[in-house]
Amino acid sequence: MARAEAAASAREPFRIRDLVVPAGSRGATELPAAQLYTHTELNIPLQVVHGRLDGPTLLLTAAIHGDELNGVEIIRRVLRHGALSRLRGTLLAAPVVNVFGFIHRSRYLPDRRDLNRCFPGSQKGSLGARIADLFSREVLAHCTHLVDLHTGAIHRSNLPQIRADVDDAAVADMARAFGVPVILGSGALDGSLRHVAGVRGIPAIVYEAGEALRFEERSIRAGVRGCLRVLRHLGMLPKSRREQPPRWEPFVARSSQWVRAEQDGVFRPHVALGAHVRKGDLLGVIGSPEGEDQIDILAPAAGVLVGRNNIPLVNEGEALFHIARFDALGKVARGLEDFQAGVLDDLPVSEPPVL
Ligand SMILES: [Zn+2]
Repeated sequence: MARAEAAASAREPFRIRDLVVPAGSRGATELPAAQLYTHTELNIPLQVVHGRLDGPTLLLTAAIHGDELNGVEIIRRVLRHGALSRLRGTLLAAPVVNVFGFIHRSRYLPDRRDLNRCFPGSQKGSLGARIADLFSREVLAHCTHLVDLHTGAIHRSNLPQIRADVDDAAVADMARAFGVPVILGSGALDGSLRHVAGVRGIPAIVYEAGEALRFEERSIRAGVRGCLRVLRHLGMLPKSRREQPPRWEPFVARSSQWVRAEQDGVFRPHVALGAHVRKGDLLGVIGSPEGEDQIDILAPAAGVLVGRNNIPLVNEGEALFHIARFDALGKVARGLEDFQAGVLDDLPVSEPPVL
């Protein structure tokens, strides 16, 4: 015991910019991203939890698309979780990466660029490139693993899902450990934080859940639980005695496709997010406001609805439903039912839920 304590006290402090966080403590700093026109500083907040004992460094990021808010709340709850007092390694959390977008309730930067297409960035490039470069050098460079938290775009909901390059064993293990039923095994888009992490050999997954500009309790709880599971999977937290393993394995989709509007008009969806559909099932209709010239929208393939448009006014070509296809569709559907029913019950929370 005495030796273990001596070893623990010998762990080096965590240093990031001008912040020094001794082992077994927390700290906070800010990255100087930019200034407003008024010369008010606009900084990216960064939280550090530096465990007493050595271990991996996990980075949690949210609001890289500035209007995607579930992840901001997920990080708040993870940071308040009592289990972190027993953390091994270091947890870095950047709950608002795109501060410009966040204060403007926008996905984008003021020059309409998407920060998540600007990585790794450059010191002499656009605003997005400079912020991406700062974040890559000052934060990403410190971490060994990454979980990037997203939601659907404005007026679009995503079923809680993980996006990950499942051909990489370490990434696939993290994706499964997160413990939501649906995994889309996609390569990362060029310029995204996940992509640059992958290039640097940092196992990275994206969690997508809910809709922009909304808090959604199920998505948030599944996200908190997922982050804690990843921490346990990486050996950064002890195994939980209370938490039951899910009764299903996460399922990796074989492929996914968007169902698009074949005409302009008023859209009436007839299936909910997470629904299990068969090829040819009626998903919704589009017609004039009076209901003339109505066309049916049929499922082009069997699968699970993992994304949905929520605004009833649509133009031809607009994405309406995102269908993920699976080999064991029946099992996925049962796993999803279990997940949807259980996610509100199986995580003890100290605060009232967001309803
Ligand atoms: Zn996003």
